[in-house]
Amino acid sequence: MSEKTITSQPHFESTSLPSPVQAQGRGKASRSASTWRPRILLGTIFLLATVVNFGPALSGRFSNSNSEHSPFGNAGSKQGFQEDENWVVEKYGLEELKKYATCPEQPKAIYPNLTWELNDEERKKSVELYAQAVRIPTESFDDNGEPKADPRWAPFYDFQTWLKDSFPLAHEKAKVEYINTLGILATFEGSDPSLKPLLLMSHYDVVPAPSDTFDRWTHPPFSGYNDGKYIWGRGASDDKTLLVAQWEAITHLLESGFQPRRTLILSHGFDEEEVFARRGQGHIAPFLEERYGKDGLLMVIDEGGGTDNFYGTPFALPGMGEKGYMDIVISVGTAGGHSSVPPVHSGIGIMSQLVTALENNPFPTKLTPASPYLTALQCAASHAASFPRKYSRFLKTEGPTSYPHLAKSLSSTSLARKALLGTTTAVDVVNGGVKVNALPELVTAKVNFRIDFSESIASTQHHIAKLAEKVAEDNGLLFSGFEGREKEELGGRYVHVELLGEALEPAPRTPAEGGVWDLFAGTVKGAIPGPDGKDIIVSPYASTGNTDCKMYYNLTKNVYRFMGSQAGSGGGAHTVDEKASIEGHYQILRWVHAIIQTADAYTGEE
Ligand SMILES: [Zn+2]
Repeated sequence: MSEKTITSQPHFESTSLPSPVQAQGRGKASRSASTWRPRILLGTIFLLATVVNFGPALSGRFSNSNSEHSPFGNAGSKQGFQEDENWVVEKYGLEELKKYATCPEQPKAIYPNLTWELNDEERKKSVELYAQAVRIPTESFDDNGEPKADPRWAPFYDFQTWLKDSFPLAHEKAKVEYINTLGILATFEGSDPSLKPLLLMSHYDVVPAPSDTFDRWTHPPFSGYNDGKYIWGRGASDDKTLLVAQWEAITHLLESGFQPRRTLILSHGFDEEEVFARRGQGHIAPFLEERYGKDGLLMVIDEGGGTDNFYGTPFALPGMGEKGYMDIVISVGTAGGHSSVPPVHSGIGIMSQLVTALENNPFPTKLTPASPYLTALQCAASHAASFPRKYSRFLKTEGPTSYPHLAKSLSSTSLARKALLGTTTAVDVVNGGVKVNALPELVTAKVNFRIDFSESIASTQHHIAKLAEKVAEDNGLLFSGFEGREKEELGGRYVHVELLGEALEPAPRTPAEGGVWDLFAGTVKGAIPGPDGKDIIVSPYASTGNTDCKMYYNLTKNVYRFMGSQAGSGGGAHTVDEKASIEGHYQILRWVHAIIQTADAYTGEE
């Protein structure tokens, strides 16, 4: 994650693209998407944000405006505010949304009793442990079988043994349980059972490094090569630096006589890289809920953000919201036949139209109070040295009317930023055709969507169904979307859209106020001072991926995706030449060492 100053000018054009949340089209998709329930989202957000920033008196200001002037696109001006369809307010609460649109208060720095300045010997040992962890090829494949059945899990047993041998004191003091064989759960029982546990999370599986990419790696993917500045290899940044730091930190504290008052839990999944983590945290989280009950944990901290130069000022940017997730399969069934008498469009041609329809009608670019990215921009407007003045003025004086301008302008500056400003569409797999003289009977495509903070699985499906149904109609094919009919019922000539696996709604927002926020943000400030020694700004930030903590929303509202490393200290996650800096590893270590102690000393509200 790296923020650069915006250089491009804002655009003011409006979009005429279909919106996933416009209620006008709802009847069409519902014909086959029987459970589709339309949500009047844009209107809600528009009115909401207007109320949030200007008060109710001005909420009618845009009631007759056209789309160019409506802060949330062209639906907001047409739809009324309907209590019973106000799901965004229901989901977040009006007061919460109001808070999301402002930068949270910055708490005072909190310092732990014991700080750990590693000496040369400790530094050497730390780096060696980290490199050893990278050398164990714990690759996680999408088609992995059960832990005891699939031989590809063998390195995971090696990893467990290595962990036990490398951190004997921590293993002696903790109750270590292996959930579903490979999940690692280490509980350091606190002396005061009335205090809710702190849970630190990291995963020990890594994305596979296929052998046909080995020649593109500067150092072999499981070498754990130490060039004096970086540790190289698959898992070096995602996520073994964090896992090793967690065990090093607790070990050092135990050696120093630390006896937890608040229970500390280290929780390690083994299939985080398989989107739904069914075997790892999918087992561990329900197990913990059984043990500690709903809301039974004080705080969960998972991999995620770190510190960064945000518009010229050092910021810590913990992920306090996460986009949703959905995969679909589109199938086109056609008559097939001899390629000497083809129709105007074969199944592949029709699939091309569907792909083009999806790519040419993207989800709207937007910035709403539901997005933690808006909160981060508000913090930048208040605290960042080189945040463009024009944008400050937008946010501070123009309020929500400026959000579409900001969204458009920001989205044109980088793909990473664009991904924070709306639902994304990625067509990733296409299959169809078997022979050059035969027309394809079945063509399929798999498409991935990362759902915007203000949208839902339902609104995303609605957008897709509307586009696909139009293509089906144009080609004289039957259409069935999501909850509609099975392919077999469609008579061989159809466009069929269905979910692939499970879909995830956008994550609940982590509160940026109250005792636990003060504890978290205060500890960040204490453990990671800015380059000039001053406190850094801690701002909620948004995550576009999904990590294992998605399984923990029942266990606490205080979920932080934050590892504490400096942005740019690693690279190559999920691709060749993955590496992470040794200095970054020490910074993660300092942070984890601090939060264990400050959470232990914390007596405030939960
Ligand atoms: Zn990861």
